[in-house]
Amino acid sequence: KKRNLDSPPFASVKQHKVNQYKVTKYYNDRPDFGKDARRQSPIFNLKNFNNWIKSVLIASFARFNPPSTARVLDIGCGKGGDLNKWLRSNIDEYFGLDIAQVSINQANNRFNDMRNKPFKAHFNTLDCFKEPLDKAITQDSLDKQFDAVSCQFAMHYAFDSEQSVRCMLENVTKYLKPGGTFIGTIIDADVLVNALSEIDDQSNMEFGNSLFRIHFDKRPDENEIYGQKYNFHLEDAVDAPEYLIQWDSFTELAESYGLQLITYRPFQDIFYDQIHISEFKRLATYLNIIDDMGTPVLSNDEWGTVGIYVAFAFEKI
Ligand code: SAM
Repeated sequence: KKRNLDSPPFASVKQHKVNQYKVTKYYNDRPDFGKDARRQSPIFNLKNFNNWIKSVLIASFARFNPPSTARVLDIGCGKGGDLNKWLRSNIDEYFGLDIAQVSINQANNRFNDMRNKPFKAHFNTLDCFKEPLDKAITQDSLDKQFDAVSCQFAMHYAFDSEQSVRCMLENVTKYLKPGGTFIGTIIDADVLVNALSEIDDQSNMEFGNSLFRIHFDKRPDENEIYGQKYNFHLEDAVDAPEYLIQWDSFTELAESYGLQLITYRPFQDIFYDQIHISEFKRLATYLNIIDDMGTPVLSNDEWGTVGIYVAFAFEKI
């Protein structure tokens, strides 16, 4: 069912601003404790696993042949945690955008600390789901177009309204070359809705494990596509309101922006599909997420947390 979101009730606009403020503030306030502290984090293994998945996704759908002139846009780039992954992807130019100024500063510093800068990088703040790209990137640059657009663990913030999702899709596709890819990682809404439906006590709308907690204030309305809010808490990483992504509706809308779905795959399946490929196995060994037999060394709760995520790739036609 499609809602007319051009004129949402005032209360929901106000509430969205509050939620958006919470997200921006949350990420701006998160200090970067450096490498040693990251190693002590209760989600150290999980982060390594997620980094492995993102590396596989980038290598599979956004790798270019050297010498290359490929240009990449990273929406919701955070502190620039994917810069090294793009290094292995032979890109020539990287544009990182995020709503949180503090994260953008950290991403910039991270790039400056990279040894022999193998590509050009530009960072800027932008609400990528409310504002057009030309507010943050020069028109000259945009006209040269992107070979890939990436949005990692951030797209769910757009699903407060159809307007935001459309703005995001416009930003993704307007300057993406035909044949270029749009890749991302998200939480699987079906997994959340199923988990919620399996709770016997109808008044309990919270579930998770020692690493993550999902809390719904009210049950998701199956007739609504947007604004299906829940709070996502991931130990030592995230505590902010997010929105369910109804995948079928999204792919339909994405198609109208020229995006054709190539893959949509749970993280756990990607692991078993790809771990045999020697390059990815080497990386998994380096990241300490597998043992000598190639089995994941994640705890039950870490593996359970991995189970809520999916990765996707679209091609611009
Ligand atoms: N992509 C990075 C990664 O994979 O490590 C960061 C992921 S972090 C979980 C989500 C990021 O989305 C945060 O840096 C947050 O500031 C950003 N974000 C949230 N809403 C946004 C918006 N409207 N526009 C741009 N970035 C946004």
